[in-house]
Amino acid sequence: MHAYFVNNKEIAWAHAGLPGMCVPLPRRQPLRAYPHALAAPAEPSRIAWKRTKTTDRRIYDAVLDHRLQPGTKLKEVALADAFGSNRGVVRKVLTRLAYDRLVALRPNRGAVVAIPSVEEGRDLFAARRAAEAAIVEAVTRNIARAELKELRALAESEREAYRCGEVRKGLKLSLKFHRQLAAIAGNGVLAEFLDQLIARTPLVVLAYRGRGADRTCSIDEHIEIIDAIATGNVAKAVAAMTSHLESLEGQLDLSDATETSTDLFALFAADGD
Ligand SMILES: [Zn+2]
Repeated sequence: MHAYFVNNKEIAWAHAGLPGMCVPLPRRQPLRAYPHALAAPAEPSRIAWKRTKTTDRRIYDAVLDHRLQPGTKLKEVALADAFGSNRGVVRKVLTRLAYDRLVALRPNRGAVVAIPSVEEGRDLFAARRAAEAAIVEAVTRNIARAELKELRALAESEREAYRCGEVRKGLKLSLKFHRQLAAIAGNGVLAEFLDQLIARTPLVVLAYRGRGADRTCSIDEHIEIIDAIATGNVAKAVAAMTSHLESLEGQLDLSDATETSTDLFALFAADGD
């Protein structure tokens, strides 16, 4: 059984460089099941806070660029060694990432990278289709020529990264494409919502990927979306985005995701970020 926490927009937005904002926590908060989380100090010193944020971000980035698989055990000692940190900081980070549903905290069994349920995966893509349709509609109506040019340059960088085998860079640029559309749309609430959805998408994709599929955004489809936006035809642009997200979701299957083991020290010790 996996105990999931609720989203913490403050963390997600901090990662996105957006202003933070606290969100009321809903009723389902199994914090009492994790006394170690409650034992963490409420007001860390500035240095400790900075270290926590750095650790937070590195784990978050490792999820985003597919280096951490769903179900990976997140051992506190291994993470503390990898980050030159201590277990208290790691525990605090894991608790916060659990708010984003990127980590699952299990009583007496430690933390793992979250394994989203099939239903959660379907809901996530449905939410992305709704949010990104609204975003693309706004973009198509209002985009400036310079912004269109920037989008094309971004798609070109994305293509180049994959062509050169720079998968981590390519994945980041793929996510940036969706975030940039949200930024152009100019609706901060939608952008924040999308950022949360984007952070959770890699875990769904990794947990339920289909064999032989590339499991990432199609660059050709990104270019089709840009071309559709450039025509000024809202219906066409929304259809291109919807088709793109359906294509990504269509690569998923319902195989059982299992718990996996990863050398956390090796993964993060060599991380130059
Ligand atoms: Zn995409």
